[in-house]
Amino acid sequence: MNTERLAARRLSRRTVLKAGGAAALAASAATTLAGPAHAAEDGTDSVPLDFIVVGAGFAGVTAARELRARGYRVTILEARGRIGGRTWTDTFAGQQVEIGGTWVEATQPNVGRELQRYKLELETDEPLDRMMLPTPAGPKAFTPDDGNARMGAVMSKLFDGSRQYFEKPFQPLARQDLLQKLDRLSLRDRFTELKLSPEEEMLFNGQTAIYSGGSSTQGALTMFAQWWALCGWNVDGWANTTCFRFKTGSVSLLSAMLAEAKPTLMLNTPVTAITDDGKCARVTTKSGKTYTARGVVVALPVNAWNTIKFSPGLPAAHTAATTQGIAVKNAVKLWIHAKGGQGRVYGQAAEGGSPIPLIIPNKKTAEGQLYIGFSVDPALDPNNVTQVRDAVRKLGVDLDIIGIRAHNWGADEWARGGWAFRKPGQLTSLYPDVLNQATSRITFASGDIAEGWSGFIDGAIESGMRAAQLAAGEM
Ligand SMILES: Cc1cc2nc3c(=O)[nH]c(=O)nc-3n(C[C@H](O)[C@H](O)[C@H](O)COP(=O)(O)OP(=O)(O)OC[C@H]3O[C@@H](n4cnc5c(N)ncnc54)[C@H](O)[C@@H]3O)c2cc1C
Repeated sequence: MNTERLAARRLSRRTVLKAGGAAALAASAATTLAGPAHAAEDGTDSVPLDFIVVGAGFAGVTAARELRARGYRVTILEARGRIGGRTWTDTFAGQQVEIGGTWVEATQPNVGRELQRYKLELETDEPLDRMMLPTPAGPKAFTPDDGNARMGAVMSKLFDGSRQYFEKPFQPLARQDLLQKLDRLSLRDRFTELKLSPEEEMLFNGQTAIYSGGSSTQGALTMFAQWWALCGWNVDGWANTTCFRFKTGSVSLLSAMLAEAKPTLMLNTPVTAITDDGKCARVTTKSGKTYTARGVVVALPVNAWNTIKFSPGLPAAHTAATTQGIAVKNAVKLWIHAKGGQGRVYGQAAEGGSPIPLIIPNKKTAEGQLYIGFSVDPALDPNNVTQVRDAVRKLGVDLDIIGIRAHNWGADEWARGGWAFRKPGQLTSLYPDVLNQATSRITFASGDIAEGWSGFIDGAIESGMRAAQLAAGEM
């Protein structure tokens, strides 16, 4: 960034101190505040806010905290009536459950640091009893060790070479020279290239299909290969990505971050337009109010960027990213409550084998067992017990379902997709540009465009840290 732009973006020490002394309202997770303490609605206050963060998911709340740590006043405008975005700690069948992002690891660098900072604990899922995996003869039970080893063998072949092309897993573009051709491959292209036996391929293509959004043709080889690299290139690392969760819920970390960030938090405040007029940034809400600030961090899902009117318009890479979408559409997560009997069974279908290709056991209840299921099939009604039971039966698991709690993240107006999973070509064509800000006053943060754990909470935190640095003119 040139020095002129930097100077325009940095606040004077005097301004910062003045802001720090003002009565910024501390917002707790459960608080909806009537209005910002330093509201700069046009015509009512000539003092602009320091920064506006749009979106109170992990990326936005992290950016707010980091900007606050630099002495800036921050207002968060959030469309929903709650914080958390694609994370959502709630209750079902008498248990604390996560409707969105669930599993994290202390070894993920950003999550690990936050756990230590706020002295939060992780809870470990109980070990699996068995794994039901697809074979040409139908679903078959494997011991967890055997099942994971078989899947790991396929993953090793699929992602062979990733030690070279992702030699630095947290810097995905470090070996752009090796990635140019590879990044154009879908996971299906890679299966075709490998010519695995049907037995081998079907052990893992259900996972590549669902993570990609329905078909292995949709997802980039390099997306899953980067996760594999981040997991230390081994199946135990991959198994750990669905093992540990926040003991007090993902919201407990967000609440701790917010308590430190002390932003003015405005819930139920959807943003419709963001303008950088060369002197300041203006943010307009659905209710027609306009807030003025020195800078804006847009912490929305990439799929939602095109719901905002940006002036000047978004750069080409940002436009391409939001038009193509990064988070998978039609992503549904289901909590299934079943009477006892099947125990801690993991079920996985082959690609195209079931509208619910993956179930993972979670907590025990007084009546039985909770399972987490995933679907990307728009034809499935996730609240229809018969449809869900039939879909799970295709995994070789017969559940006596007594309750379902499902959320369709694709149909969620403020998410427009579930977990991030890049499409072929997106890493090399979009990342070099979308990682930077759109204008000198408009910066983007999202777990969908993290350099490391993209598609994970850790990536959202990483992206929020980076956005704060960019917004503060430090990069
Ligand atoms: C079903 C599912 C399962 C997942 N599982 C895991 C997992 O196990 N582990 C893991 O680490 N990650 C998981 N993830 C991914 C993880 O949840 C996300 O990567 C992360 O939460 C994204 O955070 P974010 O802040 O970038 O975006 P979001 O959480 O989406 O935050 C964006 C915020 O912007 C708000 N917003 C949108 N439009 C507007 C507007 N116009 N005006 C104002 N506000 C607006 C939204 O309401 C939202 O609060 C999962 C995601 C899903 C959907």
